[in-house]
Amino acid sequence: SLFRHATFEISIAEPKGLPAPNGREVAFAGRSNAGKSSAINTLAGHTRLAFVSKTPGRTQLINFFRLRCGGVMVDLPGYGYAEVPEKIRRQWQRLLEQYLTERENLVGLVLIMDSRRPLTPLDRQMLDWFAPSGRPVHVLLTKADKLTRSEAAKTLAATRKALAAWGDAVSVQLFSSLKKTGIEEVERVVAPWLID
Ligand code: GDP
Repeated sequence: SLFRHATFEISIAEPKGLPAPNGREVAFAGRSNAGKSSAINTLAGHTRLAFVSKTPGRTQLINFFRLRCGGVMVDLPGYGYAEVPEKIRRQWQRLLEQYLTERENLVGLVLIMDSRRPLTPLDRQMLDWFAPSGRPVHVLLTKADKLTRSEAAKTLAATRKALAAWGDAVSVQLFSSLKKTGIEEVERVVAPWLID
């Protein structure tokens, strides 16, 4: 239970507010409304650790949560919300790029995608920024409960194949916050990133 009993540490709105590196970080990113907050809450076994957005795109903060293993779970702002002004959108993109490319204690990325719409252009952008570091990326195809078994299997296989373009350190699984499926698989993948 890697993510259980995570505790809130700090929220930041600008890169210059980043806390000094203190423990290994695993970041969660995803398109706005993909299901990131729900996934974090499901993993943490908490109903509202991460704020499930009523207004997509409004959570423009980076939230830091301390895990019991000593590592840190970092909730990055959701991207791709169309109704955010272009200027603001560019600022968030810059914050994400800077964090993903420069954060020295960031050991891996969990990328949340809606299983009905995987690998949007901005998801690909996140992979382009982070994968060259050689650090692992684990993709959660969430809302898997909305697919039939065969659709889910097809989506998983197709996404896995497409992700190979970003190298060997990228993995993918199905996930559902509603059905609480896939939790153990995430923990199995991410635990070695955080624990020596
Ligand atoms: P975020 O913007 O990525 O943080 O997305 P949220 O976690 O706020 O979820 C967006 C919407 O999708 C909400 O209405 C959630 O209830 C719904 N949702 C999230 N995860 C799941 C899931 O696994 N299954 C289903 N059916 N709905 C989900």
